[in-house]
Amino acid sequence: MKKIRKRVVFYLLDGARPDVLSELMSQGKLPHLKQLKEEGTYRTATTCFPSTTGPAYLPFLTGHFPGTMNIPGIRWFDKKEFKRSRWNRMAMRSYCGPEAPWFNTDMPADKPALFDLCGDSYNLYNMITRNIPDDHDLGKKGKSWLYTRAHFLKRHHPVDIQGHERIMQMLQSDKDFDFLFAVFPSVDWDSHYHHIRDERTVKAYQIADNSIGEMRAYLEKKGWWQDTLFLLTSDHGLTPSDAHFDLGDWMTEQGLKSVSYPVIWRRNPKSAVMISGNSFGSIHLLNHAGDHALGRSEINQHFGSERMKNLLDKKAVDFVSCRGDNLGEFIIQNQNGSAIIKSDGLKFSYNPIDADPLGMGNIEVSGQQQALEVTMESEYPDALFQISQLFRSSRAGDIVVSAANGHDLRDFWEYPEHKGSHGSLCREHMLVPLIYNQKGWASHSARTADLFPTILKWLNKVPVSSEGRALN
Ligand SMILES: [Zn+2]
Repeated sequence: MKKIRKRVVFYLLDGARPDVLSELMSQGKLPHLKQLKEEGTYRTATTCFPSTTGPAYLPFLTGHFPGTMNIPGIRWFDKKEFKRSRWNRMAMRSYCGPEAPWFNTDMPADKPALFDLCGDSYNLYNMITRNIPDDHDLGKKGKSWLYTRAHFLKRHHPVDIQGHERIMQMLQSDKDFDFLFAVFPSVDWDSHYHHIRDERTVKAYQIADNSIGEMRAYLEKKGWWQDTLFLLTSDHGLTPSDAHFDLGDWMTEQGLKSVSYPVIWRRNPKSAVMISGNSFGSIHLLNHAGDHALGRSEINQHFGSERMKNLLDKKAVDFVSCRGDNLGEFIIQNQNGSAIIKSDGLKFSYNPIDADPLGMGNIEVSGQQQALEVTMESEYPDALFQISQLFRSSRAGDIVVSAANGHDLRDFWEYPEHKGSHGSLCREHMLVPLIYNQKGWASHSARTADLFPTILKWLNKVPVSSEGRALN
């Protein structure tokens, strides 16, 4: 008997919020997704911290988090490398420009992505293209021109529409596939430049929905749909923002002259500031001997309690986090005081010291999964695990700022002005929709990292070590 070929189609609706998606479904605006919800499963999952495009693709594509992969932001800074020589290609990075292709070589070589593992794999528009041959990278041809034009004209939809056409061309050719990963970027762009519920953003959701309808009809006609796992998720939510606080400029005003993109040539900087999303900021202090990441006491010494107080008093700052003085300890601080997270990788705890910045009371749990379950309904889903994975990377910075909703951390250099933001640990940025055309799978609270082992299992591939837990 001929073995049935199983396939996976994965739509990444960049920046989609579960609540907006639900509203549009109930208004009848996304008929194909609604049908999938009825036939399969529609739930909410958590992304990672920072909740930002690029790093937040790592959990589902590699099964690992940004801290583990040492890519803790869409911009990052490496104090060790910078102190060695600032004109060193590993000293800092921005994937929002010509350095974007370096994402592939920045990923640890021993951590394979789904494209390496799934057989015949096709990619549309995702920036992680390691080992993908050009003729399997469906969006590559003309991508930079199309993206630039969309950005300057603020008309994004042609990108998604052309993406859909490339998917259909591939399906209608004589090629077969095991894994198709397609990014629809316009929900993110329209939410940044207009609003999360702007009519243009709604249209972007509908373009993806139409694409699902046509793709599905074609696979049904071929008799393939039955054995295809269809998945849709997002890499982060977004919140509207109208106030911009430039963390890099603020550091300079505070006497700690900063380098930050695009002003990276300043002489004798005392700090570096890297912003992602733009609600995530990492501060790297350079005004100290050595090249190590600082713990709380050293931050007190080199940043100072007065500056910390000024920073925490800023409306734009929800909370800051840093490493504690002992391994596996992390401090969360807002203007009311601080709390401590402890993790040895197996146990996780959160305890207020003189305040409760995350509003969680006292928590003590065993295991990564429990750490998610107890925080899923809180204002900061998965905070305990996410903070500890982030600080695995020294590039995460000495002080990490999570912005308050309504604010972001970048001003003058952001053009066009952003009216939406993500990157923080707040619920609205961390929760993403998760839809699949299967019923009765595991019901544990899900992270997007769980999709990595789920896909390998669906395709009957040998499991690969990951930080996710299969749903099937
Ligand atoms: Zn995104």
